[in-house]
Amino acid sequence: MCGGEGRAVRLPGAPECAGVFQQEGPTPAPAMEGKQDYDLLVIGGGSGGLACAKEAAQLGKKVAVVDYVEPSPRGTSWGLGGTCVNVGCIPKKLMHQAALLGGMIRDAPHYGWDVAQPVQHDWKKMAEAVQNHVKSLNWGHRVQLQDRKVKYFNIKASFVNEHTISGVTKGGKETLLSAEHIVIATGGRPKYPTHIEGALEYGITSDDIFWLKDSPGKTLVVGASYVALECAGFLTGLGLDTTVMMRSIPLRGFDQQMSSLVTEYMASQGTHFLKHCIPSRVQKLPDGQLQVTWEDLTSGIENVGTFDTVLWAIGRIPETRSLNLENAGINTNPNSQKILVDAQEATSVPHIYAIGDVAEGRPELTPTAIMAGKLLAQRLCGQSSDVMDYSNVPTTIFTPLEYGCVGLSEEEAIAHYGEEHVEVYHAYYKPLEFTVAERDASQCYIKMVCLRKPPQLVLGLHLLGPNAGEVTQGFALGIKFGASYKQVMQTVGIHPTCAEEVVKLRISKRSGLDPTVTGC
Ligand code: FAD
Ligand code: NDP
Repeated sequence: MCGGEGRAVRLPGAPECAGVFQQEGPTPAPAMEGKQDYDLLVIGGGSGGLACAKEAAQLGKKVAVVDYVEPSPRGTSWGLGGTCVNVGCIPKKLMHQAALLGGMIRDAPHYGWDVAQPVQHDWKKMAEAVQNHVKSLNWGHRVQLQDRKVKYFNIKASFVNEHTISGVTKGGKETLLSAEHIVIATGGRPKYPTHIEGALEYGITSDDIFWLKDSPGKTLVVGASYVALECAGFLTGLGLDTTVMMRSIPLRGFDQQMSSLVTEYMASQGTHFLKHCIPSRVQKLPDGQLQVTWEDLTSGIENVGTFDTVLWAIGRIPETRSLNLENAGINTNPNSQKILVDAQEATSVPHIYAIGDVAEGRPELTPTAIMAGKLLAQRLCGQSSDVMDYSNVPTTIFTPLEYGCVGLSEEEAIAHYGEEHVEVYHAYYKPLEFTVAERDASQCYIKMVCLRKPPQLVLGLHLLGPNAGEVTQGFALGIKFGASYKQVMQTVGIHPTCAEEVVKLRISKRSGLDPTVTGC
């Protein structure tokens, strides 16, 4: 550790660990002109920040990353790497995989395996394995920073002025750092419904679920978007009694026909849905169970139920509040609290940038944060003038039946081009693996949204089925670069796969013909 006991402030320009610290007291902010400590200072060591820092360092810049994890209200904390690595994509996908394995074990006897049913799942064992993998990624990120000579500070940053940040360690020690360019990549954190009695006290969020040592048991998941449905999906798949409480529609902003199929499949797998309901109170009963009171918005009737865990998945808040952005003159959207940026990712202060979840109008996805970070570093280093293209970003919701999509939903295409100019090709198909296992494939469905006029530019692709993420990734290339329906039909399929159903889509919705695929 640098410095001695108590709060210490490193003088601007002084080398780290050189013992040049001022003891606590008013510290004059470093001059805004003149030499700065770093060429680039990145606030936030998550997907976007680490990608930007590593790229800039590789291109010869003197770079520092500051990252600090504020524990969740439940006290959960984690290491370097941000949301995706610690409390997002990675542990989520691994738990999704754990749940899928349960389904495969149930399929196994159909394929001749002698597996005693029902099988039991051990949450503790799974959680430990997942957490160990996450910890190895934390370590990997630290090593990568070291290898690329990026200086890492485990401090919580806030702006002193437009070239300087103050960073405070867990122990309260303060460091001042200055840089020519600053990138804000502080992401976001889950929202709590603080107006609901007991919500903060007794509920958890996605910041906690992956780090629970013991099974969450019977769980109420509040919310109906990515996080809510993915978590409810794997909890159900692991054999837990799981209920989703949604106040309106599932997966707002996504193709609504696909979204309904997602929840229909989940219901068929045992997830309970309380539709058009909002919670009003969470109380702890003497036996430790949580009693939730909710209102049915359709009937106005109040209901009560008991659960072991209440998981709030009602959206996220950008991490901007503690950054003292006003000290640097950085503008935010007062409603979303996100940082306003232009196409170059620049904020209202030209040498300060914002990328990833914290930036206004950006998809909250890891690959977009990473690509935006890398491109920004390349521009700052004069290597390229390319800016991030946020159009046609593919994504997948890792629900038990995965939903992958890229481009416009059917509703968006119709709203934009008019129904008479849009052709939708679709098919209900049965994955081969489902046949022997006698699985129901009622919700395995694909739709391709195209312009009607030849050559029928593909506007969007939506796919519900096993491995939809893997399938969508490949087709995203074609759609990004302007593939037409004709070109997709000229593509030879790989047999027997689910992906080949995309290149065999012949039935248009307009024709009214039965879109059920039969035979090869
Ligand atoms: P983050 O990764 O959130 O990193 C920000 C970092 O900054 C954090 O480490 C934070 O602690 C730190 N920080 C904040 N404030 C300060 C400060 N003042 N000083 C110092 N450090 C600070 N995306 C996908 O593409 N695929 C998925 O499957 C997927 N699954 C997800 C599942 C869940 C449950 C969640 C919640 C998200 C998921 N996402 C997924 C979204 C993805 O995780 C985010 O879009 C991505 O992590 C955003 O990266 P970022 O760099 O903007 O911020
Ligand atoms: P979202 O903002 O997408 O969704 C919030 C959900 O909570 C909506 O269903 C909303 O309902 C509901 N809601 C909001 N407030 C309340 C309330 N007070 N009471 C009840 N319900 C409420 O948030 P998520 O946390 O699901 O996802 C955040 C982002 O993280 C996503 O946009 C995505 O980009 C990223 N992510 C990506 C994943 C992936 O790539 N697979 C996985 C997980 C997250 P309503 O529609 O009525 O407003």
